[in-house]
Amino acid sequence: MEVTRILKILKKRWPNPGAMEIGNPYQNLVGVMLSARTRDEQVLKLMPAFFRAFPTVEKLAQATTKQIENKINTIGMYRQKAKNLKKMAGQVMRGNDGKVPKTMKKLVELAGVGRKTASVVLVASFDTPAIAVDTHVHRVTNRLGWVKTKTPQNTEEVLLKLVPDQDKHTINQVFVKHGRYICISKPRCWACPVRDLCAFQKKNFEAPKNAQAILDDIDRREKVLEELRRQAIG
Ligand code: SF4
Repeated sequence: MEVTRILKILKKRWPNPGAMEIGNPYQNLVGVMLSARTRDEQVLKLMPAFFRAFPTVEKLAQATTKQIENKINTIGMYRQKAKNLKKMAGQVMRGNDGKVPKTMKKLVELAGVGRKTASVVLVASFDTPAIAVDTHVHRVTNRLGWVKTKTPQNTEEVLLKLVPDQDKHTINQVFVKHGRYICISKPRCWACPVRDLCAFQKKNFEAPKNAQAILDDIDRREKVLEELRRQAIG
């Protein structure tokens, strides 16, 4: 099947796990919540100190919003995120015996948790087939011709039917990286390993003069990200 084939090729190109595939469900959930509209690098950098201060969901629930703010004030929307984290931790302690829920229905009831966040947690922490669709996944799958959709929500609905269960966990991992580095707004089809399988009409095969420097920089950024992810896991 073409979907499986393309994912296999992209998995070879982007072998590292997603940046927020870290540690246990609690750490995973916090990481994804913090990463909303924030660069993964910034979130990964603050994680070791964050989890030293709040090693469990119980400790997070006991902290004041101010204490949480102080640990995340290097990232955007930190006040709102601190509020959500505190509320989420309280909900998990009260309603779920201190354990991060394992179902979409229960996850999206938590403060600050939407379907995208919930899907990442389901896939990364509970090995449950789900698809987290962000702008990268939405753009790349439209260009490939897998979906013809206007919104990430529609894309998620179509992909959930289209992609075999065993491949669902790969979607977010490879398309986020592919969308960030190669299938950018002016796509770098000249460097794309799935260009022969892609339906996009306006492919860009013109490699710039500094093509090699661009590719080297992508590899460097991926290495930095993976190192930060490992440090975050501890
Ligand atoms: S060929 Fe171009 S448009 Fe298609 S997935 Fe690759 S980079 Fe994106």
